[in-house]
Amino acid sequence: MKDYIKNPQLIVEEKKAVRLFLWLFYIVYFSFDLFTYYLFPNSLKNNKVGNPEEGLGFWIYLFIIAILPIAIWIMKKGNIYLVKYIYFYSYVCLDLINSLKIYLGSTEPFASGHIVEVLFVLFCPVFVSKKYFWTVTLGMISKYIILGVILQDIQVIVPTVIYAILTGIAYVILVRFYSYIQSLTSVHDELLQKERLAVIGQMAATIGHEIRNPLSSLKGFTQLQQEQYPNTNDFYPIMIQEIDRINSIVNDLMYISKPRTISFEKASIEEIISYTLSITQHQVERQGITVETIIDSSLPLIDCDSKQLKQVFLNLIKNAIEAMPEGGNINIKVKVEKQKMYICIQDEGYGIKDENIPKLGEPFFTTKKDGTGLGLLVTNQVIKEHSGELNIQSEPKQGTNVNIILPIHQN
Ligand code: ADP
Ligand code: MG
Repeated sequence: MKDYIKNPQLIVEEKKAVRLFLWLFYIVYFSFDLFTYYLFPNSLKNNKVGNPEEGLGFWIYLFIIAILPIAIWIMKKGNIYLVKYIYFYSYVCLDLINSLKIYLGSTEPFASGHIVEVLFVLFCPVFVSKKYFWTVTLGMISKYIILGVILQDIQVIVPTVIYAILTGIAYVILVRFYSYIQSLTSVHDELLQKERLAVIGQMAATIGHEIRNPLSSLKGFTQLQQEQYPNTNDFYPIMIQEIDRINSIVNDLMYISKPRTISFEKASIEEIISYTLSITQHQVERQGITVETIIDSSLPLIDCDSKQLKQVFLNLIKNAIEAMPEGGNINIKVKVEKQKMYICIQDEGYGIKDENIPKLGEPFFTTKKDGTGLGLLVTNQVIKEHSGELNIQSEPKQGTNVNIILPIHQN
């Protein structure tokens, strides 16, 4: 939230709200007093028309007006977010002193509750600030409790209850605003992500296309070389492996550039997973990792693009392997429930820090020295195209759980 607050557009919004608040505050404050003390003073006990002499008397108006230049000065200094708090605290202090001066030692029953207090509550949703809401709610209720205790007057219950009801209403409005803003923000983020992907996609398509052809001849010649001169050096497998790596990066790039049309067919998840495991077996053994698969018996075939799902599991299992340089267990569970397939890939790796979770699947987000940050992006897209869901939960230093839900039948 703090970072958002510095956004110039939001500061303009806060300025608008503060300006409105200031106008209303003074209008409401003075008209209420004008009515109660001058126009309809019947409500007063002594029926005296004119200036309030009790309490702080006229001084209270001077104090209230004096806050304005202070508020303007603070706004000029760039602390616009403080203004609402200054008004609230000043009002509560002044009103507390005023009420105590009037009622302490007097037999008059307590009759307080300036209408301007309602304004404070109503402005909580306008300022869209939960912190301000809690300040106002707790501050005002504390004021009445303090008065009640000091004056030993049960009458304070009335304004406290009214206040509690009003704050309840304000809270509902505030929460609605919050959730509305949150969904707007997420729509905005999604659009931004799409736009970024479009730009990256164009670049990726061009670069990927240019790299692909030379790469396949490079691989072909390397293989040829290896066949012609077997046992001459150990580097051929490494060279081929590295070329494959470049190839898979290029494939990922090409994939995000133009997610191709999916061709659905019936395939067995079990086969897809065991294919993926056979590819990664070498790395698994080298790192001393054990893989355990618990797959429901008699799984139905699933409508999918098996080539792309292989890519998905390859990405996820590779991530799990790469998260466990010191070895450990990978658990793969597959089960079927209500026409949906639940696949869980669990590792005991170094996990993902909380602050990185939202970044997963962003193009090029990686924490690895030679990572590309494309794996989860592609994975996400493929799962989405299969109308599935991908969930990642992780506990740093404990491990990561990747859950995939795939519908068995595509409509
Ligand atoms: P890359 O593997 O190239 O880094 P990915 O998109 O596959 O790109 O993953 C992005 C990042 O997500 C990784 O760099 C890593 O920090 C984190 N990550 C993904 N899966 C795991 C996992 N199973 N355990 C720990 N971190 C993971
Ligand atoms: Mg990866």
